[in-house]
Amino acid sequence: MVCQPLAAASSHHDSGLEQQLLASITQLASDDFAGREPGTEGEKKTLRYLAKQWFDIGLVSGTNDPSHPWFQPVTLVGREPVGSRASFARRGRPVLVGPEDVRVMTFGRRGIVQNAPFYFVGRMAGDLPSRTELAGRVAVIFDKPSPRVGGEVLPLAVRQNALLEGGAAAVLTILDSYRTIASVSERRRHQGFALADDAPEGDLEAYVTMEGMARLLGGRDALDALSNEANRPDFAPRLLDLTGSFEATTRQTTIRTHNVIGRLPGRHPEEGAVLLLAHWDHFGTCGTGKIGEHLICNGAIDNASGLAGLTEIARRLVHQPGGPPDRDIYVLATTAEEMGLLGAQAFAESPPLPLGKIVAAFNLDSIAIAPAGGPLGVVGQGMTRLDSGLATVAREQHRKIAASDWPNTFLKRQDGWALISHDIPAVMITSAYGDRPRFQHYLETDYHRPGDVVKPGLELGGAAEDVWFHVALVRYFADPRRWSASVSSAER
Ligand SMILES: [Zn+2]
Repeated sequence: MVCQPLAAASSHHDSGLEQQLLASITQLASDDFAGREPGTEGEKKTLRYLAKQWFDIGLVSGTNDPSHPWFQPVTLVGREPVGSRASFARRGRPVLVGPEDVRVMTFGRRGIVQNAPFYFVGRMAGDLPSRTELAGRVAVIFDKPSPRVGGEVLPLAVRQNALLEGGAAAVLTILDSYRTIASVSERRRHQGFALADDAPEGDLEAYVTMEGMARLLGGRDALDALSNEANRPDFAPRLLDLTGSFEATTRQTTIRTHNVIGRLPGRHPEEGAVLLLAHWDHFGTCGTGKIGEHLICNGAIDNASGLAGLTEIARRLVHQPGGPPDRDIYVLATTAEEMGLLGAQAFAESPPLPLGKIVAAFNLDSIAIAPAGGPLGVVGQGMTRLDSGLATVAREQHRKIAASDWPNTFLKRQDGWALISHDIPAVMITSAYGDRPRFQHYLETDYHRPGDVVKPGLELGGAAEDVWFHVALVRYFADPRRWSASVSSAER
């Protein structure tokens, strides 16, 4: 086998590596893998593909569990929607909206509210209304967000959860964006899951189409007026002359899924370990069912790109001149990230090594965004003791780390968060988060939609640089003479 030389500076293209990344991404994001949904045939294919690649590279099983080599079992319990009922009244008179225009869902066994007044909160660009304003009421919100002061846009789920936690009896979302009743129902199949030991919490979420909402308000003009009202800078929440009764029921479902764990044995494993991870799962199907639209969500960027990067980093670490590093290298492909970082959480709760032995963890999620030559962005900057080491490696590799704090807005939306929550120092450092405009564009277009496929122009320049940067990063943190776990704690 040919040993690839360590890239000195990363300003030139490594087209061989880009080809390797593309081949893996194309495979993992093919319809054959059916969108890599946990518990399905798509999972089996994904696990088999990853384990075979890692075995061929020369990794060994990292589960440290002889009865479960390579694959760490993760059991998820969740609740699947079975029933949805909604009835409405305007000024006390019933208004009929058909089931095609409204859907009610809960994470609990059963959720119910009776004749609750509707409290309109617009797009929630301002502060959360007080508990007394929300209590016992249905908070009515537009799906399409508007930027808050400072330009931050809050995802719908964040706004819904804030309203529910803030005391609302239910949240009714008016679907004025790309989501449809079909897509929110389909998405729900992937949410509300937890590790078998943790019970999911109850809530009540309802969705209404524009047509349904127009009927409730008494016409399209009234709906347009409501939308305009929500867009006003001086918008203030207020009661609508509507009430509603909602009921949603569910049944329990169980998903048996797996993390994949490989290991590159170090020369001195007693010195600890470095962990590399990327989530393997995606949504399976997530299309809206519109004619001509692809139903499978292939997740080429999210996260076939991270998996491809993970494998290529591991390959280069195995073939480094001078042999393996001192510390063990664990290579982890997590399940159920899209269901709430559950695979990473399961890893941290049943780890194959004592967590305190992990001196650094590096997550790779959606790395095929930026072209070569850009700066690195760090999700988790300032949150761990790793920053000084990151700066050293960046300097040595002639890479710039962007000063922006923007990547940290994604801190809790990536697997590293499940690790940080268990005191494992984890960051995500990639070119993708160094390129805010391109990343933002991805979020607004293909992210979590059927458009996230391999297509012409898929950018791999930055991802290839990320691979080489991580090879250097892992070698640095896996070397006790360069990165001492105890000294680094003192530097904290
Ligand atoms: Zn995702």
